[in-house]
Amino acid sequence: MPSPMHRNIDVTMVCGHKDNAPVSYRGSRQLLDERLNLKKMLCHECMGSLSTWYSTDFGQLAYPMDFPIMAGSSPAQTKFATDVRRDEFKKFGPIMLALSKDPSELAKFAWRAIYMRFMVTNVRYWLDGRNRFNVHLWATDIQRLMKAPGISDVVSAETPYGWFAKGRNRDALGYIIGINPACDLQGKNLPLMHLWTAEMFRQSVSTGDERKAS
Ligand SMILES: [Zn+2]
Repeated sequence: MPSPMHRNIDVTMVCGHKDNAPVSYRGSRQLLDERLNLKKMLCHECMGSLSTWYSTDFGQLAYPMDFPIMAGSSPAQTKFATDVRRDEFKKFGPIMLALSKDPSELAKFAWRAIYMRFMVTNVRYWLDGRNRFNVHLWATDIQRLMKAPGISDVVSAETPYGWFAKGRNRDALGYIIGINPACDLQGKNLPLMHLWTAEMFRQSVSTGDERKAS
């Protein structure tokens, strides 16, 4: 097997920005694959913005929203998962508020990815995945939201996007992609709208074996 070639190529990334990215490849076929892969990713600068948002302390004021009812198999589990989600929102609620005031496309999608995460009602996700949401997974879901509709990749259910895309409710994904965080924030009916949303999600994603819990 020949040793791989290394070079930088110009690619328009999924965020719409041009980037000059390093690739390693053996042959033109693999170079094409590398290029296609890169086209699904965020550019260097957008990744930098995400890291900054992730590590900035935006204070305690959170984006106003309601959450869907957690669907667990036992009240204890459900309560624990709900507590985990509440703690997570202490970090991400203020980030969402900051993002909702940022007019950039990246900020909108970054907001949507976090919003999508808080719409996950699977107890196991919150119990297993509480420490797993990092900049990398955040970026992964943003990239998928930016690329949708027309998702043809095999997605793992590891991230919120995967959870929704795995046959549960693609309409929910379409809905999330359509949300304008800034408009919603200005709307007087926001709590009601989000309550309705929470109810919609509860209905659309709950399955027969999931019990309602308060
Ligand atoms: Zn970019």
